[in-house]
Amino acid sequence: MPLLFVATTNRDKLREIKTIMADRPVSLRSLADFPAVPEPDEPGATFEENARIKALYYDARLGPAVRVLDAGALTVAEDSGLVVDALGGEPGVRSARFVSPDASYEERFAEIYRRLAVEPDAPRDARFVCALAVVHQGQVVFETTRTVEGTIAEAPSGTAGFGYDPILFYPPYNATLADVSQEEKLRVAHRGAALRALATWLERSSRPS
Ligand code: IMP
Repeated sequence: MPLLFVATTNRDKLREIKTIMADRPVSLRSLADFPAVPEPDEPGATFEENARIKALYYDARLGPAVRVLDAGALTVAEDSGLVVDALGGEPGVRSARFVSPDASYEERFAEIYRRLAVEPDAPRDARFVCALAVVHQGQVVFETTRTVEGTIAEAPSGTAGFGYDPILFYPPYNATLADVSQEEKLRVAHRGAALRALATWLERSSRPS
């Protein structure tokens, strides 16, 4: 059973990742299982670059400790965020820092609605993007990018989920991703899709152990 070292400090993401991988033949460890190391900078202009930066960084810093548990362990990192077409792709890779690193999501939503109001007739197309990178002993061995397409809701709605979920309206559900259960969100959303692609790759590849 391969060991996946999930390199995230985001508890909401980790909760989703644990749920998605729960029935798969993998064992999971996260940053919480190892001594704290400083977070890397995320200077990339794309989700893919930042996912790779994080996976390579944590593999270099903690890979040796993880591989004591399983020589074939893989370091998994993801970078994700909300892309709003009418805002030129913002918040994008800056989703976690949008407005300011300490801003509440209400403040971030208000800023998005303020900017969208400048052009009320512009399409409100938006999506969540998840780029996932997997590293083994300093080499990127798997990458995927998955999205969930929607629009910016007329107003925030729902209390489930986290982050920008209340403003991403998903037309097939006629609801935001915060209006639906975690199970319904994970079935269609970016992170679920990326992790299912990883699970398929794990099943198909013969990896060192
Ligand atoms: P990262 O930790 O740099 O990848 O930042 C990701 C940020 O994007 C999160 O802190 C959220 O603000 C946002 N985000 C990513 N995935 C989701 C999601 O599934 N729902 C809502 N917001 C998300």
